[in-house]
Amino acid sequence: MTYNDQNIFAKIIRGELPVIKIYEDDKTLAFMDIMPQADGHALVIPKTSAVTLLDLPGDDAAYTIQIVQKVARAIEKALDKQGIILMQLSGEAAGQTVPHVHFHLIPSNVHQLGKHAAQMGDQDKIKAFAEQIKAVLDA
Ligand code: AMP
Repeated sequence: MTYNDQNIFAKIIRGELPVIKIYEDDKTLAFMDIMPQADGHALVIPKTSAVTLLDLPGDDAAYTIQIVQKVARAIEKALDKQGIILMQLSGEAAGQTVPHVHFHLIPSNVHQLGKHAAQMGDQDKIKAFAEQIKAVLDA
């Protein structure tokens, strides 16, 4: 699928838009979702320009999933949660709204999940969760 480098996440990777960052290395970035479906909802993205998981080279997918695991562990520990939903929407037909591949990490139960990309979260509350998660990741 053709990649548009003006999408929101491409701008975030380039530092052109603010984001509540929790982890970054040379290949991936993790940050808090601005419209959380549950407290602690975070996103992990590879820096590779790919629209969906199906467009992402296997090596990048393999590396990114390790970071997904690392951040998921930190979220569970930091927020004292058990159970985390890993969601990955590939393609508009699946409900993908941002055309840069990303993995949702949502510490919740699938039956209690809020609506997808529906409502802006409380920024102060999101920042507080981010600080807790970062503290575990940086420890
Ligand atoms: P998807 O529909 O799977 O593409 O998910 C995109 C996610 O990105 C949604 O959960 C949005 O709430 C989230 N999102 C959109 N813009 C931003 C932003 N500027 N910072 C953080 N999260 C965002």
